[in-house]
Amino acid sequence: MKPIKLSLAHNANNEVKYVEEAVLNNQLSNYGNNLNVFNKQLETYFSKPNRIALLNSGTSAIHLALIQLGIKANDEVICQSFTFSATANPIVYQKAIPIFIDSEPETWNMCPVQLETAIKDRMSLGIKPKAIIVVHSYGMPAKIDEILKISEKFSIPLIEDAAGALGSTYKGLKCGSFGEFGIISFNGNKIITSSSGGALICTAEDQKIKANFLATQSKANKPFYHHEEIGYNYSMSNIVAGIGRAQMEVLKERVLKRREVNVFYKEIFEGINGITLLTEPSEYYYSNHWLTCILINFEEAGFSNEDLKKELEKHNIETRFLWKPLHLQPIFSEFPYYGKSSSEQLFNIGLCLPSGSNLSIQDKVYIKSVIMNFISKK
Ligand SMILES: *Cc1c(COP(=O)(O)O)cnc(C)c1O
Repeated sequence: MKPIKLSLAHNANNEVKYVEEAVLNNQLSNYGNNLNVFNKQLETYFSKPNRIALLNSGTSAIHLALIQLGIKANDEVICQSFTFSATANPIVYQKAIPIFIDSEPETWNMCPVQLETAIKDRMSLGIKPKAIIVVHSYGMPAKIDEILKISEKFSIPLIEDAAGALGSTYKGLKCGSFGEFGIISFNGNKIITSSSGGALICTAEDQKIKANFLATQSKANKPFYHHEEIGYNYSMSNIVAGIGRAQMEVLKERVLKRREVNVFYKEIFEGINGITLLTEPSEYYYSNHWLTCILINFEEAGFSNEDLKKELEKHNIETRFLWKPLHLQPIFSEFPYYGKSSSEQLFNIGLCLPSGSNLSIQDKVYIKSVIMNFISKK
């Protein structure tokens, strides 16, 4: 058996064709047909004409969102704790202060109650947070109605980290399109990839124009090199966009495949004590199920997440622990945190299972037999 990975890039049909086209037409840098088409595909998908900037990563998209919201040194930015470090790193790039918020148990994303508590507490200390970053972790939409309401009530703009949530919807609307800014990642392990890359989803056309300006070293439109502000080298290349363009054509199929993988695990764990899957709380939520995640209650299951991880590792099946909350990370532990231990508990007992859209039937049969064997011995 070849090793089974957590989530692998999955080639579509037309990558070679589009990259070849770029090479033959000498469109080798940050302009060209692939960029135009990929941009159009995304703007159509999100129904946001002229509102999307293609960038070299999801992280740089978050950074440019913060810059456009005017986040500066010592400003406070509220951020979900249960996420990948890339969500919060750009806050620190701006020398601003992340204020971390715990998760709620249904979607595992930002708890609206703790969010409101945090805002009120910061305001009572005389500091109004300048932005909120919510994450749709593992593709599961956050409680976006409640969070938007709080964002509006206090007039604090929302940034949606939808890095892993392309294809997910809430009440039929696309994740990534709710906030003042949304971001997507096309990194290699996401639902589709451009090999590496990202997109910033804006609410106004001038934000897109500004993002593209900042992403190309803030070079002013003059006949000589003229810079009035600090810029970044964050733009996407036309070669990379050729891969993204081909992958965008199969997004729907990829989402359906990941959802099939989720059903596959649901059937395995049905009737097994002590195991719960991250599940859509109601019909309003449609997750792309980028990764299928489980929680293991040791008392009821008779084994821990670590036990199952080790067993699967022995059989060359890769799994991963859930996010270690950012407020517990050495790089962020000095910053304020609002919440209890929900996100910590998720980290302590959770596990991500192999969820790639290219898992074969043999892979699934093998994974199932290893898991069932392990459980029957417990
Ligand atoms: C992958 C990811 C990012 C970063 O995206 P890159 O394109 O790798 O920079 C940010 N946030 C979350 C939640 C992610 O999963």
